[in-house]
Amino acid sequence: MQNELLPDSFNATNKNEGVTPFFALHDQQLLFNTLMQSPAFICILKGIELNIIFGNYSITKVFGERFKEGKTIAEALPELEGEGIIEIIRNVFISNQQFAAKEMPLHFIIGDEPKLAYLNFNCEPYGNERVQVAGVSVFAYDVSEQVIARNAIKASENKFRKLIYSLPTALYTCDAEGKIILYNTEAVKLLGEEPAIGKKVGSGTWKMCNADGTPLPVNEYPVMLALKEEKITHHELIIKRADGTHSHVIPYPQAIYDSAGKVTGAINNFVDITEQVNTRRQLEQTANMIRDLYMNAPAFICTLKGREFVYELVNPEYQKLYGKRKLVGLKLMDALPEIRNTEIPDLLTRVYETGEPFVGTQMRFLLARDEGKEPEETYLNFSYQPMYNLENEIDGILVFGYEVTNQVLAKNKSEENLRWVLESLPQITSASSSDGTNIFFNKFFFEYSGLGVEEATKNGWNSIVHPEELENVLREWESCKREGKEYCMEIRLRRNVDRMYRWHIAHITPMKDHNGMVTQWIASATDIHEQKIKEQQKDDFMSIASHEMKTPLTTIKAYLQLLEMTIESKDAEALLYTRKAIASVERLKDLISELLDVSKIQHGQLNFNFSNFDFNEMVSTAVEEIEYNSPHHKIYKTGSIEQPVYGDRERLRQVIVNLLSNAVKYSPDANEVYISVNQQPGEIIVAVKDSGIGIAAVNLSRIFERYFRIDGQELHFQGLGIGLYISMKIIERHRGKIRVESEPGKGSTFYVYLPN
Ligand code: ADP
Repeated sequence: MQNELLPDSFNATNKNEGVTPFFALHDQQLLFNTLMQSPAFICILKGIELNIIFGNYSITKVFGERFKEGKTIAEALPELEGEGIIEIIRNVFISNQQFAAKEMPLHFIIGDEPKLAYLNFNCEPYGNERVQVAGVSVFAYDVSEQVIARNAIKASENKFRKLIYSLPTALYTCDAEGKIILYNTEAVKLLGEEPAIGKKVGSGTWKMCNADGTPLPVNEYPVMLALKEEKITHHELIIKRADGTHSHVIPYPQAIYDSAGKVTGAINNFVDITEQVNTRRQLEQTANMIRDLYMNAPAFICTLKGREFVYELVNPEYQKLYGKRKLVGLKLMDALPEIRNTEIPDLLTRVYETGEPFVGTQMRFLLARDEGKEPEETYLNFSYQPMYNLENEIDGILVFGYEVTNQVLAKNKSEENLRWVLESLPQITSASSSDGTNIFFNKFFFEYSGLGVEEATKNGWNSIVHPEELENVLREWESCKREGKEYCMEIRLRRNVDRMYRWHIAHITPMKDHNGMVTQWIASATDIHEQKIKEQQKDDFMSIASHEMKTPLTTIKAYLQLLEMTIESKDAEALLYTRKAIASVERLKDLISELLDVSKIQHGQLNFNFSNFDFNEMVSTAVEEIEYNSPHHKIYKTGSIEQPVYGDRERLRQVIVNLLSNAVKYSPDANEVYISVNQQPGEIIVAVKDSGIGIAAVNLSRIFERYFRIDGQELHFQGLGIGLYISMKIIERHRGKIRVESEPGKGSTFYVYLPN
């Protein structure tokens, strides 16, 4: 390669080819002078020792006295020892071969300083007529400056490359034609491929698009504009990668100029703004959503700015509250002068100053819906929320709410109606809120109790309930409130006029909303004193009568049995009547004993004898007894209980006998009765099934009541209506349950459940 740092003539000589140098003999002095003054280092060395026989000014200028005729080169420049150059020159002498080298680094001592110099060398063997090689002429040219400058450029280029590679933004460079020269890893990531070096921008798989997604022609790529020195605006573009993904970027292309001001290439830098774009989009979406929400909300929303509460944002629902009145931009007090004397300004100021939100429920306002219109009664549910600025200081209030006028008026109306109904009831009635706070007592309550509004509101019914029942009443009331259930009980309430406690049947009933939440409690009491007393008198009479009849009946039975023995087989007819009389007396005794049981139950005196007994045997005895007395019916028993059962054998037998005799009694047209005994985990189940007349649904819950008999049956079926009542009490005493399933005309099944 031609060295542009050396004169062309040198290069030509160096190659020893082409034109032969020439000079005229008479110009020898001129030639000598030229050599002497040449800026190149020229010396002539003789013999294999390389003795200096000539050195031009350039050499002596640099090395001074050291470079003298008569010294060998090694003596003149001892620092070159080990650098290899002396050996090279000697080799030229020995081999008679020219040597040329470029930019050979050599370490010299100049003055007292070491110096690295880069020399272009040309060493030629020379001879004369006697010897072919007499010595070596050395021509050297100092190119240190160029080498150093070029190294510096290389170093800076390297730095530049390193810089590009290490930059955290995508970057590539191209030449004046737009061919890629260099790119960094960020560019690979952004473009989704390794750009092909030497290929034109735009020939890769990635494409550039406008921000709206339309493709951008390659000659309009910002880097191309930079190469054409056209004006570049730094605006958002999209880079679409081959895999379908894309990034939002702002390109910053920059043309590169040479020293003559000519564009030699460009560097293009992309700032990836994808994240910002996405965030911006999200923010826009959120803002749109909020705006939509705000504008279409079925609630009224407005913002009041600053201490003066200036209407800033007002949504359509809020505007509806005030018709066509102007709000936005006006101070609240100026827009709605009518609120000046209400509590609103104070409420707002408090929220503004304390930061504590205010929530108003069913608050009553008088709103003039339009300028000049009469204010209307309006009920609103709303909140005042403080709004904060970027410094976290309160700078306004957000008002949010909805109108509940219709609901409130409807509720008031329905409450009014309810009160009207309660007021007119001829019963003691009160209403309390869901938490039990007394809110209403009817006229009758005040009349009966003689209490004043204040005392009634404070203590409710407590002060008129009989002390013996109060504890029970309070306990039941608590469980009603806890479970939202209704309750019914017989209690005595004190009448004010005569201070007498009268029996009442009291109901506590919850009123629930459509979600099943209790909204109010209604308590009412109906006077049943007269019935209660009559019942008691009846009970007392029954009790006394049965007691009184028990002894004479036993005597009658004894006499009849004597008579039976006396008649024996003498008079068959008389014997038959006597036996019938005994059976009737027996039945009467059973009835009286049942009546006595009722009386005992009433007084809590029904005795029980608990023990372990054979349940199967007990059931079988009962079955036999009924079969003996009712020969027309067949009783089928299934199932059995293996282990002994703990309970009152006699009382349980009484229950089974009662159920079986009812089954027989109420099945005049059927003759089969089934009894099954089953052991389940934790309980014994006895079922008595008949195919008799059955029980209508309305009576099912009542047949266990004392003295209850189904209307119209008295003529056909004898009984007092106490058998099932006693049975239920006996089963309850065993912590068991009794229930019935029945269908009129088809039959009934009674179930007894006993824990075991
Ligand atoms: P009673 O002495 O009237 O039979 P209970 O207390 O044993 O009294 O029965 C109460 C009422 O229940 C009866 O009057 C009858 O109407 C009805 N009842 C009881 N058992 C049956 C049954 N197996 N089939 C139809 N009705 C029944």
